[in-house]
Amino acid sequence: MKPQRVAVIGVGVLGASVGWNLSQRGVEVVFIDAGRPGEGVTNWSFSWVNASNKTVSKSYFDLNVAGMKAHRELAGTIGPDSWWHPDGHLRWAADPAATGELLKTAELLTSWNYQVEICTGAEVRRRLEPALTLPDDSPVLFYPDEAWVHGRHLVGRLVSKAVTSGAEHRFGTTVRDIGTGADGGIRSVALSDGSRLEVNVVVNAAGPAAADVAGLVSRYFPMRREPGIITRIGCAQVPIRRAMHAPQIEIRPDGDSSVVLHSREIDALIDTGEDPAELARSLHESARQVVPDLGRGRTAEARVVNRPIPADGFPSVGAVQSVPGYYEAVSHSGITLGPVIGRLLAREIISGERDELLADFHPERFGS
Ligand SMILES: Cc1cc2nc3c(=O)[nH]c(=O)nc-3n(C[C@H](O)[C@H](O)[C@H](O)COP(=O)(O)OP(=O)(O)OC[C@H]3O[C@@H](n4cnc5c(N)ncnc54)[C@H](O)[C@@H]3O)c2cc1C
Repeated sequence: MKPQRVAVIGVGVLGASVGWNLSQRGVEVVFIDAGRPGEGVTNWSFSWVNASNKTVSKSYFDLNVAGMKAHRELAGTIGPDSWWHPDGHLRWAADPAATGELLKTAELLTSWNYQVEICTGAEVRRRLEPALTLPDDSPVLFYPDEAWVHGRHLVGRLVSKAVTSGAEHRFGTTVRDIGTGADGGIRSVALSDGSRLEVNVVVNAAGPAAADVAGLVSRYFPMRREPGIITRIGCAQVPIRRAMHAPQIEIRPDGDSSVVLHSREIDALIDTGEDPAELARSLHESARQVVPDLGRGRTAEARVVNRPIPADGFPSVGAVQSVPGYYEAVSHSGITLGPVIGRLLAREIISGERDELLADFHPERFGS
């Protein structure tokens, strides 16, 4: 079926990437978001572009490697602007057992031709990050091809380029209903502002709300609940250059005057009822142990958000045959995967061709 007009429901990194790719190939696109573009999970993410943390399966790893490559190509096509920060990633652990695990993963990654350098703490301070406190002789893994992305800026760039190519947008309005014809195919979307748009394709890129949007075409799409907390610390001068995983805390720059903090250990406390402000303070304290200069910063913002994760933990990308014109683009690691999913899904929508890289991530594994 030829896409005549495509409604992209949800304009985070996934929706923006699919919509931009479609608009570059001459397809009529309408971006729809209940809020502002890029202000969902995409703005509350650690935003680390990597495949080193994706060794759970080879096909998932390969998709993430393709995601890293797609980011580099995208930066060449639309310009790196303020969104693309390809300065590599540092990772180290506190105890010998955890360090052993990191080194084992590094060995596996090397056997898969993934770039990793093993440095010492002293070398890292001398060559890369002078403001860090870490033991001189600790092994530190440096992944030179990894990066971080300013998600909201990337989305803004993609949407404005797509609009220049003719895409429309409706922001601040929610998709309430999806109309289908006698053959079950997509015909329209109804919005909370009272309007109805005629379309023959919808892309469900609604992030954590994707199960609700799937429900509008009577599809059961199981998703996990896995909340995370992100904190931004304002600082006069950002004391680090790149993203890093230190023991108990992840830290990255977030532009010229703030850093972003995250920790899986702190995420695990969200459901205990602990006050998010207290969790943000714990993040700040852990970060100060690693980068003492951050002690002078102040918590600017903190938010708990739910990760958009299909029930088995893997992306759900592609068509659902029983609803002609309905496609999904839902994934955790969406920052890493946005550009590659955008490109591959746009090709599938336009030509019906499905890329081998997506073989394990078909939406119909959850039923049609
Ligand atoms: C704590 C945390 C850390 C993370 N760290 C990383 C990381 O280091 N690396 C990485 O690659 N990924 C990471 N992720 C995951 C990544 O951030 C997400 O996979 C990605 O941002 C999802 O983008 P999205 O476009 O699917 O969703 P979103 O950005 O949430 O966009 C979905 C949009 O849909 C809109 N919407 C929802 N329902 C409707 C409706 N009915 N009508 C209209 N609009 C609607 C919302 O308003 C929203 O703007 C992290 C996530 C979290 C929470």
